[in-house]
Amino acid sequence: MSVRIGLVGLGTIARAQHLPAIADTDGVTLAAIASRNAALDNVPCHRDIVALLAAEDAVNAISLCTPPQGRFDQAMAALRAGRHLMLEKPPGATLSEVHALADEAARRGLTIFATWHSREAAAVQAARDWLATRNLEKVRIDWCEDVRKWHPGQDWVWRAGGLGVFDPGINALSILTALVPGVLLTGADLHIPQGRETPIAADLGLRAGDTVIDAHFDWRQQGDELWRIRFDTDDGSLTLDQGGAVATVDGQPLAQGENREYARLYARFRDLVAAGESEVDLAPLRLVSDAFLTGTPHVTEPFTE
Ligand code: NAP
Repeated sequence: MSVRIGLVGLGTIARAQHLPAIADTDGVTLAAIASRNAALDNVPCHRDIVALLAAEDAVNAISLCTPPQGRFDQAMAALRAGRHLMLEKPPGATLSEVHALADEAARRGLTIFATWHSREAAAVQAARDWLATRNLEKVRIDWCEDVRKWHPGQDWVWRAGGLGVFDPGINALSILTALVPGVLLTGADLHIPQGRETPIAADLGLRAGDTVIDAHFDWRQQGDELWRIRFDTDDGSLTLDQGGAVATVDGQPLAQGENREYARLYARFRDLVAAGESEVDLAPLRLVSDAFLTGTPHVTEPFTE
């Protein structure tokens, strides 16, 4: 079955990744968009998802590229209108929301796909294969970028539910939880600029069995971003760099490749729809949630764009 997508929220990621990936994926077409501010040529455009759902019977799937706050009502509207659903990460502002969506999709026999794009990065599978035959001793995550470069004007990341530095940090946790089973949070320090609602930096303590895992997320990075996870084993160290695009072992190349993250996500969504299946893994969002539940907040200097 062809997946005819209604894309909602024409912001940074929709334009940079979703539109090209849809155009690139067999069996997936862009059938309509909903945007408060923008329009595209040659595609029916609606002001919001309610208008799109009312007007576009041929749209059989919705892809939500809006911020996590407010996404639940849009997602529920899509499911109640009988459409399959693909969610940008994080899949919701709360865990309960996503459970409710998964239940609703199951009740209606619809596909729901909570995506984690970083899991599709070029070297992640090679890292999984390499780690599978070794004993993991220690993991260190450094996920640091300049918020002014990557999130200019995105007010929602600073409001409750917008995750702050966990918006990129959850990408690291999505890779970690795909490669290492049973990760638990042991402690967190959240550095929140005075007058803001979400952290600009966070330090997490985690563990998986006896494996100690440290994570440092920081939006105050100057210069190039650092999106790195280092896995120390009893038989060498593997480093995933550039957000999972490059893997080295003890400094020697293991794997790398072009960025096909979103093309893979849309192909997977098409295949899930065809198979009548869903995929909702909440492990990364659970860890972030635990950090907000138990982390120690520290007020830092005010942030201005
Ligand atoms: P963005 O640039 O702010 O775009 C979000 C779009 O959602 C807006 O342009 C707007 O589109 C729509 N929207 C609807 N309600 C909104 C509201 N109350 N406030 C702001 N926008 C609203 O954000 P983004 O970077 O594309 O991120 C969207 C989602 O994708 C987030 O969950 C984010 O974590 C995820 N993501 C982002 C990136 C990245 O590099 N930026 C990478 C991977 C995943 P209209 O004006 O068309 O209505």
